[in-house]
Amino acid sequence: MNVGAIIPAAGSGTRMGGARKAFLEIGGKTLLQHCLDAFLSIDEITQIVVALPSEEVRASSNGQQRGRVRLVAGGAHRADSVRAALNHLSPEVDVVVIHDAARPLLTVRMIRAVLDCAARGESATIAVPVVDTLHRVDADHRIIETPNRTQFWRAQTPQAFPRSTLIQAYARVTNASAATDEAGLVARAGFPVRIIPGDASNLKITTPDDVVIAEAALARRQS
Ligand code: C5P
Repeated sequence: MNVGAIIPAAGSGTRMGGARKAFLEIGGKTLLQHCLDAFLSIDEITQIVVALPSEEVRASSNGQQRGRVRLVAGGAHRADSVRAALNHLSPEVDVVVIHDAARPLLTVRMIRAVLDCAARGESATIAVPVVDTLHRVDADHRIIETPNRTQFWRAQTPQAFPRSTLIQAYARVTNASAATDEAGLVARAGFPVRIIPGDASNLKITTPDDVVIAEAALARRQS
């Protein structure tokens, strides 16, 4: 297995007040560095492509390639950033693992779990079961239906795919740019995707409150 990792980190951080989210720090390290350290600890990962805002790529003092890590310019939407990174993976890569820079609390166990599936030719995502009751509502916020929550999972990253499956999915699905993750995109293209139970602490940092929660979760993990 020759694995390429993609880290979409080109978001504008609107809900964080426009902060460059990937460069926020928790536990003395940027969110991006937390993710990179997890991926760099796995030898089968031969290449890590990070999609950043184009001005960050230009401003990088370390250049656009450093060891196994390469910086590329992202796109307008998350899926565009992933697609841009995918185009930079070397031809030898046969399995792709994708992870949002906004989730610094991923673990090596999670990465290995999705990679084990992809090595068997099966796409996979880490996810957690929904614990709240879900309501579908109309434009006036009135409940239309209350589906059975046991059928719903909240997708996280990491997610892993055989490279050929991911490329076919991007080619097949109309309006791929609107996809909010690749597990959904690949499922929409007709391929099976396995859910692997993860951990609620692998939260996506979206608002300033999430930084406080992530700091606490990290401190508990390290104690
Ligand atoms: O907020 P959202 O779910 O879109 O962000 C998930 C991840 O995708 C974040 O790490 C963010 O930096 C990244 N992203 C990106 N390019 C965009 C938008 C989001 O790489 N255009």
